[in-house]
Amino acid sequence: MSTETLVSTQPATFQHSPSNGECNCPIHRNQTSPPFTAPLGLPFSNNVSIKPISQKKAEEVYEAHHGYMDGDLHPANLAHHGLYYQDLLGAITYRYPFFSKKKLYFNSDDELKPKPYTERDFEGLPDNIEPRARSLVSGVDGSSIDHTEVLSGDKFVEANRICIGERMPNLASCSLAQSQEFFVESSDCPAGIEYLITYVVANFEGSMIKALRGKGWTCIGWSEPSQAGNREHKTIRDQYKWVFACPVSKVYEQMGLSEWK
Ligand SMILES: [Zn+2]
Repeated sequence: MSTETLVSTQPATFQHSPSNGECNCPIHRNQTSPPFTAPLGLPFSNNVSIKPISQKKAEEVYEAHHGYMDGDLHPANLAHHGLYYQDLLGAITYRYPFFSKKKLYFNSDDELKPKPYTERDFEGLPDNIEPRARSLVSGVDGSSIDHTEVLSGDKFVEANRICIGERMPNLASCSLAQSQEFFVESSDCPAGIEYLITYVVANFEGSMIKALRGKGWTCIGWSEPSQAGNREHKTIRDQYKWVFACPVSKVYEQMGLSEWK
């Protein structure tokens, strides 16, 4: 599996590389003042919205605020979303993933579970990754898996980059929820997609994991660093990443819940 991509995060600050006041990205170039914090009691999520943006605009946001990536976006993108709270504050890009097949594990209630790793798998991880891996995906052994399914890559869409240009963890969580709902309902979402998938750089996950879990995502395992021989070296490939997946049916389920709020 190729792992060019990914959601990068800054420790505890959720994808945020602070602007030094001279940032010329679409978020900051015309900004007169930073976004104000919503007063207590005002539902923050009501004020977050999603609008499609151009690839150029998304690229400018990633270039300025996505800590790990540089260079162009992969051309096979399906959609770019601008994340708005008062003004544009971030971006998410959706595309087909690079893998051609993925094996998923389920319990007897048909719930998505992490891959059942062995003790040896955990011990083989680097010291700084192992404890986190144990807390994220342990407790699943072969006996808790009822059945598996091997799905082709065209059943997945990858949330390839999630990037916020301001220090607002709530915004990341709210806008992720709205963006995934917007995407699965839009004509940009190809027919037959069953899962959204994303990768979070290990050791830099910050509050990303909490946000994903709160929105129906399950950590299904880790991906190991890899180097694609035919591409220029990118630091992000040297990282372990947590792999998160979310059934599209769950996105619809959450939409139903939020309508009743
Ligand atoms: Zn900026």
